Amino acid sequence: MALDVVTKPRIRFTRRVNEMQISPTLAVMNRALELAAQGIDIVDLGPGEPDFPTPSSVCEAGKRAIDRGQTKYTSGNGTKALRDAVASRYNQRYGTSLTAENVIAGTGGKQELFNVTLALVDEGDEVIIPSPYWVSFPDQVQFAGGTPVFARTDPRNDFRPTFADIEAVATGRTRGVIINSPCNPTGAVIAEKELQRIIEWCASRDAFLMFDETYEFFVYDGAKHVSAVRWFEDYPETIVTTFAMTGWRLGYGIAHREVITAAGKIQSHSTSNPSSISQAAALDALGGGEEEVRRMWEAYRERRAWLIPAINAIEGVRCAPPDGAFYIFPEVKSYFGRGGVRDSQTLADYLLEEARVAVVPGSAFGSDDHVRVSYATSMERLLEGVRRIESALTKLR
Ligand code: PMP
Repeated sequence: MALDVVTKPRIRFTRRVNEMQISPTLAVMNRALELAAQGIDIVDLGPGEPDFPTPSSVCEAGKRAIDRGQTKYTSGNGTKALRDAVASRYNQRYGTSLTAENVIAGTGGKQELFNVTLALVDEGDEVIIPSPYWVSFPDQVQFAGGTPVFARTDPRNDFRPTFADIEAVATGRTRGVIINSPCNPTGAVIAEKELQRIIEWCASRDAFLMFDETYEFFVYDGAKHVSAVRWFEDYPETIVTTFAMTGWRLGYGIAHREVITAAGKIQSHSTSNPSSISQAAALDALGGGEEEVRRMWEAYRERRAWLIPAINAIEGVRCAPPDGAFYIFPEVKSYFGRGGVRDSQTLADYLLEEARVAVVPGSAFGSDDHVRVSYATSMERLLEGVRRIESALTKLR
């Protein structure tokens, strides 16, 4: 059969990529970096990673790996030493009996979330995601051919997901549930009994429970982080947990060995193993770091304690104290309809252009009434950022 001859070739994209948006949080970061490169003083309240340097012992472990020539491929799912260390860390904390076969290390938490989604979600499957949600969950589900189904959480309950929220949107096609606790962007920490019910319910319907605990160390005001790994021994076929080490591009997933094998198959055809240098650094990080985490936590707690009342003092802005992470998610809708601001995106654009402050529009997370403000930045920059936001918003009144 002869192929049609075209006079001018076109670029044709797939449904997969046409349905996908560039990560809006990265889009904000790119725009803020662009303005900063022009010499403009931007207060960046967009960051999605800690502002603290990596502990020196972790950096040294990375350097040692280079000096020792550990610069080659490792086994595809990560070194045995690293996977053993991850397993034993969880075993110590939760009394589980995980082994290296239950662990896969990859290039960031995102990659393991993606691998597992591709391994478990088929065309036509629905995956329930509490909303507001982290930006990558729905796009990953859609990429896999599935449909994200959002379970609205209640702002009056500080956005904490409940079993009732999940059950209300379940159908016969529900294939799994993704819980991110503490949550990016709301900071909400799921209550223990709700998580347990969701896990039991997933298990009873052969659905998976993906549990992203990237922000596990950052909870405040008596909130208690509870990990799905606690129930792993009872429901090994159901539970998948992920964690990440941001800039080093290292993350890991914990799951049933068959799920790990499937995720590893996908990884073997995309990136193979994560960088050997990052793996060596992560191995060191797993061996300690409690003091550094404590120092970060104290700084975040202090900033959060200052930031929430400072933001609430701005007329028309309302912010509940989030349980965890390093974000606040204030409601800003009272400014819509003023001076060209129509929604969270145009408000974020206005703040960037007028106040030179970068925040992420809530629409990126499925809630257009809000913006996400990160306090993973110094107290001085936070003070300056809030001062600028207040004066820019005053002009809209
Ligand atoms: N999950 C959530 C909810 C996150 O916010 C982040 C970091 N922004 C990650 C995972 C980490 O992804 P990665 O390790 O690929 O940067």
